[in-house]
Order: sequence, then C-alpha cells, then structure tokens
Amino acid sequence: MIMKVYCKTALSKSKIPGIDYSLNPYIGCQHACIYCYVPSMFNIDFNEWKKPKVKKNIPNVLMKELRKKKRGIVGISTSTDAYQPLELKYEITRKCLNLLLKHGWSIDILTKSKNVLRDLQIIKKFDSAKVGITITTFSNEKWEGGSKAEERLEAIKKFANEEIFTYIFFGPIFPLMSDEEIEYCIEEFISSNVDAIVMDKLHLKKGLLNRLKNTYPDEFNEMKKALLGNFYERAFKKVFEIARGRIKVIKAWD
Ligand code: SF4
Repeated sequence: MIMKVYCKTALSKSKIPGIDYSLNPYIGCQHACIYCYVPSMFNIDFNEWKKPKVKKNIPNVLMKELRKKKRGIVGISTSTDAYQPLELKYEITRKCLNLLLKHGWSIDILTKSKNVLRDLQIIKKFDSAKVGITITTFSNEKWEGGSKAEERLEAIKKFANEEIFTYIFFGPIFPLMSDEEIEYCIEEFISSNVDAIVMDKLHLKKGLLNRLKNTYPDEFNEMKKALLGNFYERAFKKVFEIARGRIKVIKAWD
C-alpha cells in the first residue's frame, strides 16, 4: 500500500549550482539504486526508502508558494525520482509542472526514467527548461535502478531533438568500469546529441559499503582499492580526452 503524506513546503532553497529551489514530489524512490546516498541524508533506512511516500498535497502548497516566492529555477527531483513508476498513477510531478509553466518559472529535471517522455509536450512549452537523464552504465544491471539505459538514451534523444537543453548525468561511475566501457558510454552520449555530460563520483555515505559488499561480494576488495585510489580522477581525464572539442563535460565534485 502506498502511503500518502502532507507537506508544508513545496519549494526548498537549494545550494546546487544553477538551481534556486528543489521540488521533490515523493519521499523515497522505487528505483532503489544501490549507490543512493539520499536515505542516509534523511536518516531513512534503505528498505524504507524503497517504499516511497506520496506528497499528495504538494501541488496545492506549490500553487500558494508560486504567488509569494521570488521566481527562479526549480530543480525537479534533487532527492527522489520524479518519474519513478508511482508517478504514472499519481501524476504529482505533472501537476506541479503545469503550475510552474503557468507561472513562468524555469525548470531543471533530472531523472532515471523514460517516463519523463510522457510530459514532453508540457516541458516543450517552458521558456527555460533543462532535462537530464542519469546513465552510469550500459552493462551492470545491479548498479542502478530505473528504466533500461538504452531506453533512457532514446528518451533524452527525443528531448534533444526538440531543442530543449539536455544533459546526461554520468555518475556515480561504477568504480571498476574499464576504459573501454567509459569510451563506449561517452561515444553513445555524444551520438545522442545532448548538450553536456555531467560526471560524478561515488559518495561514500553511511551504509553504502555494506550494500556494495552484499551486492558485489567477489569484486568488493578491488572496488574498495579503486575508491581509495585515484579511479575517479583517472576516469575524468579519460572522459575529458574523448570529449574534448565534441561536447561539454562538467565535473560535479571538487
Ligand atoms: S533514482 Fe536517484 S533518488 Fe532514486 S534511488 Fe536512484 S539515486 Fe536514489
């Protein structure tokens, strides 16, 4: 059974570069990516995290806030996935999008689901919209949830074809990814015509090492070595070399 909760705030001030506010229509996420660090930020057990709660009243709260708050860029879903399967039933994200459009706000959506395509016609109408799709691998199904990576790539191509600003969030990269696979991913991203690639590393928050150990018992020691070493700096250099002069690459960590 899906639990419904009532929220007091819809738009929270955000410190994420390029975003003024965050909007998260759900608490928890059905995608249950093994590397997700959001539950540890809110002190939520990972098993609970996999059973999301619906912020049923968020469109009403948003409607009031849009009249009072200073207009800005809204990051849609910074700590959940706004297009997880639940959204197809509840349409909370869609209701919020329609309100943001009506009031002339800007949006930046990041998702791991092809379901974002459902709202293409609404997103197209924004004066300023960015759509990002996370793809961190094409071969390691245990690493992340969401739609199949190929389906996500097809979805973002459709946004790029509509001249909407698009990006692929390539992170966190699997710590044992080979140079060949990195190269394959980047070539696929470039051929999808997106405007940019944003790279991120694995954030080692509470409980994550245990999850990695349980999911990858045979590779765990090697993975730990890569994480403690310079895997991500090397991967960034590799990506940058392949992408140079072809697509913009942004590193999401210092
Ligand atoms: S899609 Fe994002 S919020 Fe959902 S489990 Fe994966 S990392 Fe966490």
